[in-house]
Amino acid sequence: MTTAVNTDFDVVVIGGGPGGYAAALHGALAGLRIAVVERDKVGGTCLHRGCIPAKAFLETATVVRTVAGAKDFGVAAGHPSIDFAISQARKQKVVEQLYKGLAGLMKRRGITVYTGTGTLLPGRRVQVEGPDGQQQLSGRHILLAPGSAARSLPGFEVDGRLVLTSDEVLALDALPASVAVIGGGVIGCEFASMFSDLGVQVTVLEAMDTLLPECDRDIVAWLARSLRKRGIAVHTGVRVKGHSPDASTTTVSFDTETVTVDAVVVAVGRRPLTDGVLAEGTGVTVDSRGFVVVDDHMRTTAEGVWAVGDVVDSPQLAHVGFAEGILTVRGILGEPVVPVDYSRVPWCIYCHPEVAYAGLTEAAARQRGFDVAVQKYPLGGNSRARIIGDFEGLVKIVAARQADGRTGPILGVHMVGPWVTEVLGQGYLAVNTETVPDDIARFIQPHPTLSESFGETVLAMTGRGLHLG
Ligand code: NAD
Repeated sequence: MTTAVNTDFDVVVIGGGPGGYAAALHGALAGLRIAVVERDKVGGTCLHRGCIPAKAFLETATVVRTVAGAKDFGVAAGHPSIDFAISQARKQKVVEQLYKGLAGLMKRRGITVYTGTGTLLPGRRVQVEGPDGQQQLSGRHILLAPGSAARSLPGFEVDGRLVLTSDEVLALDALPASVAVIGGGVIGCEFASMFSDLGVQVTVLEAMDTLLPECDRDIVAWLARSLRKRGIAVHTGVRVKGHSPDASTTTVSFDTETVTVDAVVVAVGRRPLTDGVLAEGTGVTVDSRGFVVVDDHMRTTAEGVWAVGDVVDSPQLAHVGFAEGILTVRGILGEPVVPVDYSRVPWCIYCHPEVAYAGLTEAAARQRGFDVAVQKYPLGGNSRARIIGDFEGLVKIVAARQADGRTGPILGVHMVGPWVTEVLGQGYLAVNTETVPDDIARFIQPHPTLSESFGETVLAMTGRGLHLG
């Protein structure tokens, strides 16, 4: 049954994940009348099947490490044992609390949420197919924010038992004894670290010759060393051929080797989700890889239709979705827009040790023709890192060297070590404001903190380090 709804909105958003809900929250404060069409729950992959649940489990992993190391602090806590069902319930509680907060906030801002699958029709209309049947919404503007789904791998059919993606891993209520993680990217490294801390035997199989191919080589070297030291088998530059299941395990073949595991985790990237989102004749262009084509203001090729988040070809990060959602609202309001500089967005990877960076790697800076200056600061020299007993890591700053010998601006800040996802902030600002080390070296860093490692590295870059060198 089709129910025609003559509801005119300023913006109809398809998808209530970070990109869509950021636009809705921001736009509502500017007085726009906004509808969000969401087939599941607002919050999207990030809140329900991604960032938040994954980091909640990584926090369980941190607790296990802390308890296991308690004796070094003179605290007798014994050998940690894990009740994963409780960890799962705790993770779900965190998710539910944040979900209720978000849904409440959207309601208070007057955003109308339609439950159902949204399809864009020509003429800026959206068909919603949901539990209450079909209805149509129309908007002055449409924002496509349908997100992404885990990419599949031929020969590895996801069955939720022997072959899992991040969706299934985050819903586990018991831990496998061993896993093979295919893909040593962001998800691969986070899951490998988490599983290993929880006592699972982990093998990582990465096709490229390095983990985290987009990350600075020195940072990856520290991470790979740490993962291997903790007993994770890291294989890079391998070709995964397939797997042969038996009753309760499966044997994965790669190159000339095999590994038998309780479960395979496929983490080979995410694909944009446009299936069923676009009806014929909308004028929205999708590229050969399935991404919705947008300009730097997030405008698609159809008048009044915008797209943000994982469905466009930009870093698949919740905070990039937030930025794109806010930018879109500014564009709709006719306000000045500063496009996102995707080469300078912050990346935070929550494995142990953590990885965080913004800007150009040393290799990318050289490739772009900069005369490159590099300063490194191993965290072993940082007092707070010693105090917490977790000092494996490095801060690395990449800057341009000027013809007159001065160093700057800072092109990239790269970190690996404890809490660096919280420490990156100053580095992120330095990269995005094109700061010169001399200009910020005078600023006082609180001591003892992990964040002073950034200041120490900057100071050393001016040629006169304090503790370094
Ligand atoms: P990714 O692109 O980070 O990594 C995929 C990895 O799989 C790459 O290293 C690639 O070389 C490898 N690979 C591809 N095909 C392979 C094959 N056949 N055999 C072996 N290796 C293969 O993707 P992901 O880790 O799946 O994450 C998906 C997206 O989710 C990422 O783009 C990331 O931005 C986002 N994410 C972000 C965070 C975070 O910011 N902390 C956490 C999780 C996910």
